[in-house]
Amino acid sequence: MRRETLLIDADDTLWENNVFFEQTIDTYVEMLEPVGFTSEYIRRILNETEKRNIRQHGYGVHCFRRSLEETYLKLAGNMARKEVLLEISMCADVLEHTPPRILEGVPETLAYLAGRHRLILCTKGQPAEQAAKVARSGLQPRFEAIEIVQEKDVITYLRLVRQHRVVKSHGWMIGNSPRSDINPALAAGLNAVFIPHARTWHFEHAELSSGPGALLVLPRFTQLREHF
Ligand SMILES: [Mg+2]
Repeated sequence: MRRETLLIDADDTLWENNVFFEQTIDTYVEMLEPVGFTSEYIRRILNETEKRNIRQHGYGVHCFRRSLEETYLKLAGNMARKEVLLEISMCADVLEHTPPRILEGVPETLAYLAGRHRLILCTKGQPAEQAAKVARSGLQPRFEAIEIVQEKDVITYLRLVRQHRVVKSHGWMIGNSPRSDINPALAAGLNAVFIPHARTWHFEHAELSSGPGALLVLPRFTQLREHF
């Protein structure tokens, strides 16, 4: 087989990520229910706050912390208490210091793929936060390059193609997010491998689109061995 370039997503593709955010939100909702709102309402306000903050401050745990605090202040109004803000801050601290939990079979599969193809890690978020996760994962040596981008859109993929001299017909984006990994990569003329994750963040959901390249859908990361 010819040597391909595999751009590989990290959060919820190589390691668990969103499930930890969900756990934090569950704790948060329990903490806020005594304020007098339903859990659905708390989540709705949190989602709206997150959406706005992401546009302004980007992805990541720091922005998430800000959204948790702002949502509480909005809901509690002049009933807001310092102790609750402190508790929220502690929840965000726990999330921030949770070590990455590598998905099953990922290290072996990456070792196999790295022997045959060029691997580039492609993740979005805050550079320091994502770089720390990559470093702690121990998976860094398998990749020729680590790309931490602000947003994964068509422009970003076209830039990566140019920068790394990827031949599009031999370039693949592999990840769990239709919105960030699959659709824009296909639109940029790359091939894509969609590996769904049951706990994908709702912001990343989208209908799968098609492009000139190929689209593979694999249930598990380990199955990449059968195709590359
Ligand atoms: Mg992902």
